[in-house]
Amino acid sequence: MRTSLEAKIVPGRRCGSCTLCCKVFAVPDVESPRSALCGHCVVGEGCSIHHARPAICREFFCNWLLIETLGPEWQPERAGLVLQSVALPGGHQGLAIHVDPDVPDRWRAQPYYGRIKAWAAKAQQQTKPDGPIYFVIAEVHRRNFLVLPEREVDLGDFDDHEQMTIERRVANGRIEVFARKLQPAG
Ligand code: SF4
Ligand code: SF4
Repeated sequence: MRTSLEAKIVPGRRCGSCTLCCKVFAVPDVESPRSALCGHCVVGEGCSIHHARPAICREFFCNWLLIETLGPEWQPERAGLVLQSVALPGGHQGLAIHVDPDVPDRWRAQPYYGRIKAWAAKAQQQTKPDGPIYFVIAEVHRRNFLVLPEREVDLGDFDDHEQMTIERRVANGRIEVFARKLQPAG
């Protein structure tokens, strides 16, 4: 059965030999750690347990597959970057850029950095004093950076169970967005 996201794949786009999402994400269901290729992944071919892969794998489609305006330079295998739209509690909407740990500075190289900064500027414009906060995060292994138009904020390392919260402060007509680890209740 095709999922609703699968139906949105840009015609002609397919994973092909790319397996980057099987490396950058942790997949506990198959004991695959973050930043290491899953033991079920065959380089250049894909998942060796394709029909039995966990739901989290089955339901993941990166933004390059889904967004036509991301050109060939954003093909994850070529870019070393996996783009993912994310949502946080409160309706906040983000773009997460998961970086291949073998090329940790790739997101700061062109043409990627310029486009990432343009997305950060657009997120800033879209964020109003009320309603959803829009944001851009770059993730290199466990380290997360909040990307703002004029700078990046190093949020430090996140364990797999740690979550992020995003907030805004409005002062003198300016909206400042910041992010931090969500502290456990109690
Ligand atoms: S990163 Fe995207 S293109 Fe590459 S294998 Fe994953 S879903 Fe497919
Ligand atoms: S189970 Fe298959 S699809 Fe999921 S991470 Fe491993 S190789 Fe990739």
